[in-house]
Amino acid sequence: MGGYIMQIQHFSVNDGEGIRTNLFLAGCPLRCPWCANPEGQTLCNPMTRWAETEEILQEVRRQAIFYRFSGGGVTFTGGEATAQPEFLAELADTLYDEGYSLALESCGWFDFHRLRPTLEKMDLIFLDLKHPDPEEHRRLTGQDNGLILENMEKTARLGIPLVVRIPVILGINGTDDVLAKAFALIRKKAPGASLELLPYHRFGEEKYKELGLPLPDPAFGIPTREQMARWEDQAKAMGISVVSYR
Ligand code: SF4
Repeated sequence: MGGYIMQIQHFSVNDGEGIRTNLFLAGCPLRCPWCANPEGQTLCNPMTRWAETEEILQEVRRQAIFYRFSGGGVTFTGGEATAQPEFLAELADTLYDEGYSLALESCGWFDFHRLRPTLEKMDLIFLDLKHPDPEEHRRLTGQDNGLILENMEKTARLGIPLVVRIPVILGINGTDDVLAKAFALIRKKAPGASLELLPYHRFGEEKYKELGLPLPDPAFGIPTREQMARWEDQAKAMGISVVSYR
C-alpha cells in the first residue's frame, strides 16, 4: 500500500522530542486561509506525490541511529496526518512494532473511533485549536470546532501526553478575549494538556505562487514576541502548562 505525501523531512527538532523525521501526509478536511502548507490541502497536486509504504519505512529505518542517540523518532504531520487513515495506520503499526517513538500532529478533525488504535500507538499527540467560537471556526476553516473539541476531550482521556497548539494570528484569534476563551476550553476539555502558541508566519507564500493560488490576506498579522509572552503568561495564570518545541 501507500499514499500521497508532501515531504519526508529528516533532522527536525520542532515536532516532538529529539531528532525526528517528519512525514508530511497529504490531504486536509479544513481550508484555513492562513495555511502555511497549501499543497497539503489536497491529496494530489503538483507538489505532492504517491509514495509506497515500504519506501517510507526504509527511509525512516536509515535514520534510526539519530533517533536512538537523541531520544527522537517519527512525527506524522501534514496537511492533516489523519486524512488518509489506512495509510497512516499502516505506517504507524509497522513503526510501532519496530520500536520507534511516534508523534502525531493533527487539526483534530477525524473519526475518533476509527483512529483510536493509531492514536494509542503514539508517545505524543499535538492537536490544533484554531478558534474557540464554533461559527467563527466554520467561517474561517469551513468546519465548526465541535468535532475537534470532542476529539480533544476523547484524546486527552487516552492518557498520552497531549499538546494543544494554537496558531496565533492577529485579526483572527490574536486577542486577549479570544485566547482566554480558547484557554478555558483547553482547561475544560483536556485539563492535563500542555499548550504551545505558534506565532503566524508567512513562510508558505512561495507555495501559493507555485500552485497558482491567491496569497493569504495581507491583513493577517504576525504577533510580536511581547504579545506572545503575555498570552503565554495569561495561559499559565489559568493553570495551563506552556511548552515550546520551536
Ligand atoms: S488544518 Fe493545517 S493543513 Fe489543513 S488547511 Fe488548516 S493549516 Fe492547512
